[in-house]
Amino acid sequence: MSAPATQAAPLYDRVALIGLGLIASSMFWAIKRAGLAGEVTGYARSQNTRDTARRIGLCDRVCDSAVEAVKEADLVVLCVPVGVMGAVAAEIAPALKPGATVSDVGSVKRAVIEAVGPELPAHVHFVPAHPLAGTEYSGPESGFATLFDNRWCLMITDETTDRPAADRLVEFWKGLGSKVDEMDADHHDLVLAVTSHTPHLIAYTMVGVADDLRRVSESEVIQYSATGFRDFTRIAASDPTMWRDVFLANKDATLEILGRFTEELFALQRAIRQGDGDHLHAYFTRTRAIRRGIIEAGQDTDAPDFGRGPAE
Ligand code: NAP
Repeated sequence: MSAPATQAAPLYDRVALIGLGLIASSMFWAIKRAGLAGEVTGYARSQNTRDTARRIGLCDRVCDSAVEAVKEADLVVLCVPVGVMGAVAAEIAPALKPGATVSDVGSVKRAVIEAVGPELPAHVHFVPAHPLAGTEYSGPESGFATLFDNRWCLMITDETTDRPAADRLVEFWKGLGSKVDEMDADHHDLVLAVTSHTPHLIAYTMVGVADDLRRVSESEVIQYSATGFRDFTRIAASDPTMWRDVFLANKDATLEILGRFTEELFALQRAIRQGDGDHLHAYFTRTRAIRRGIIEAGQDTDAPDFGRGPAE
């Protein structure tokens, strides 16, 4: 997809990115690509990450405190792991500019809203969001300007949302390349438990099982690893802090979907044991149709290697 057209005037005079990992760095490069902000400030917890950001030109100004970064910012985006969103909000709250919009990119919404909302002063507008885009890499050097192109960004709105602030944030995410949809927090968390959180847990489990087997069969699991397993290892290489926080924060929805998953798994197990080929065939036919739907919706490529290039 081609880059969004450069804006005539920036949507925000100053944007502050708190946390400078995969998502924030991709946002910065995409903000620059489309000219969405006059100035972008940034802050990350460690000196090491701040040094790296300065070295690679990530952010117009890298600050040594979160408070300094958010001063005079019209939009503040929390790009830290879900488990520390509340603490970061409490830290920046006294320095937020009246009328500013505060948003986040956390993968779970209800827990983040409950942690962040009470910390913010009444004179700012809180509009949570979640871009459905990522890779298994993390850190300030992992970002790239096209990460959000043609990917969904889900914004959490309800009757309390400040509409002009939300509308401007919608334009901002469209400028980053995203398609934007709005929904409530609980619905978001259930949808993501199905489409992202539980699949990650299953990938972690499968790679763990293979690791146990590897001890039995030496290195064969790695040496002869087929595409199905390689896809699992890619997902299971995702950042451990981020994913620990996601499961702790989206406990109910993930356990609900895991329960359903376990029931389906038992049904397939029984079909295999009983030689019930009709059951297996019907099941796999249904799942194949879902894959086709994802490709038709433009959410993945139909390249036989899932678009990830030849195996090593
Ligand atoms: P990441 O690459 O691991 O970066 C996290 C950043 O947060 C790092 O710069 C880290 O600083 C900083 N940080 C951690 N604790 C902090 C604190 N207390 N104060 C200030 N900075 C702190 O993570 P990411 O993948 O960008 O994910 C960020 C958020 O986006 C998470 O909430 C995640 O759920 C969400 N998200 C991720 C994906 C994905 O696929 N990765 C997709 C959509 C949404 P240091 O480097 O100094 O530790």
